[in-house]
Amino acid sequence: MLDSIEFLKSIIDSIASQLAVIDSDGRIVYVNQSWCDFGKESGACCDTVEWDTINYLTACDQSSVNGDNFGSSVAQGLRDLIQGDTEEFQIEYPCHSPTQKRWFIMRCTPFDQGNQRFIVIVHQDVSQRKLAEEAVERLARFDSLTNIHNRRSFDEHMEASWSKAIECQQSVSLAIIDLDYFKSLNDYYGHQAGDDCLVKVAQLLQSLATLHGFFCARYGGEEFAIIWVEESVDKTRIICNEFLQALQALQIKNPCPTSCPHLTASIGLVELIPNKSSTVKDAFRQADALLYQAKKEGRNKILCHSFSEKARA
Ligand code: GH3
Ligand code: MG
Ligand code: MG
Repeated sequence: MLDSIEFLKSIIDSIASQLAVIDSDGRIVYVNQSWCDFGKESGACCDTVEWDTINYLTACDQSSVNGDNFGSSVAQGLRDLIQGDTEEFQIEYPCHSPTQKRWFIMRCTPFDQGNQRFIVIVHQDVSQRKLAEEAVERLARFDSLTNIHNRRSFDEHMEASWSKAIECQQSVSLAIIDLDYFKSLNDYYGHQAGDDCLVKVAQLLQSLATLHGFFCARYGGEEFAIIWVEESVDKTRIICNEFLQALQALQIKNPCPTSCPHLTASIGLVELIPNKSSTVKDAFRQADALLYQAKKEGRNKILCHSFSEKARA
């Protein structure tokens, strides 16, 4: 019998995941080698720590008091298992080190021996899967050429902002930016030069987005879009103007015989207060119409309309 217990322990010790067993009072009664190693490696304990003097539940309660939400969820999950209210508890959590992004999944399963209840706690490193998920997520939401948000990401952000704005009676402003005569630049200097130029424009827009705290994306070929929630028309117009000036300051040569020797853009800017009968499409339609008008009126300009005063009246 003793041999088989020792055999089982040696198997559990060889498991890469960290495993511990606690009793119904939360005291640790067993830890495997991986648990000890991780404790040392992460600096959570030293070589000489005696695990069987630690109460895991108390430690979770303590970290919960210190503001750690994970601690309080785990303490609650373990108590539910101990009382028999649930059969299994699991939670995924980030545990990043200064040099590495790491995530773990914690799985807790009860078992009874005699009239005592014990809980097996296993922490498994799921960093590889999470990193792969993050990479897929990034591919789906970021434009591969310019590395800023793509249309899909913008549409999701717009829908979410729209719904929130309806709920909170806030305004939404949408700017659609379209580069002027970009086809000629492309035709004259070649597609690669056109691509390089799109990257520069995107970087410029993103730097303004970071500075002023707004959301922007590459919406299509040579079109970009910005969204603001509850921002004044004066402010959004100033930002759009700042973008047009900074774009000209990049001095990207424009081969088209227009009034401006450098690449410019036109912008349709609209501010609305969404309601239940309006849709995101209405905002795009309005901004597109203003952009079209800006092109017709000679390009390199912002045409802006605010429907918010009317909606608020
Ligand atoms: P307008 O001032 O009226 O907007 O004129 P435009 O030439 O910018 O407009 P048009 O829609 O006729 O042309 C847009 C061009 O943008 C077409 C295509 O050559 C170029 N373009 C679209 N996507 C890309 C891209 O990913 N890379 C490059 N290099 N060019 C692109
Ligand atoms: Mg266009
Ligand atoms: Mg264009």
